[in-house]
Amino acid sequence: MKITNSSDWRDALPFDIPVDAADAVPGEPTRCASCGPDSEPFPREALWAMKHRHPNNPAGFVRFYCAEHRPKPKLAPPAPPAKARRVPNTRRAAAPTIPERVAALCPDCFVEVPASGTCGMCGQQVA
Ligand SMILES: [Zn+2]
Ligand SMILES: [Zn+2]
Repeated sequence: MKITNSSDWRDALPFDIPVDAADAVPGEPTRCASCGPDSEPFPREALWAMKHRHPNNPAGFVRFYCAEHRPKPKLAPPAPPAKARRVPNTRRAAAPTIPERVAALCPDCFVEVPASGTCGMCGQQVA
């Protein structure tokens, strides 16, 4: 693998999206840009490379980040808010409610009188 000073490898990188540094820019262990100059270099396998836009250089510039400082991809579309699932309007036509026969009670026995209207206890005819 030959890495030259050309920006070929950089051109292949997408802007603002962290990529696996070992794949995108293989090479020597490198420091994380966010950990600072005093930090230990990370092997590239543990690093993310992200190409930033540069105001003067259209090729941009690449920074390396450890997993902890891995930047969020700027291009990622914001996760759509979890929409309340629209309940399809499949409300079934309400079954015609059969009016319940109001159970008549025998005024003396306080039991339900069958449909015949005759109290089963005392034989009284209840309207
Ligand atoms: Zn870091
Ligand atoms: Zn009765």
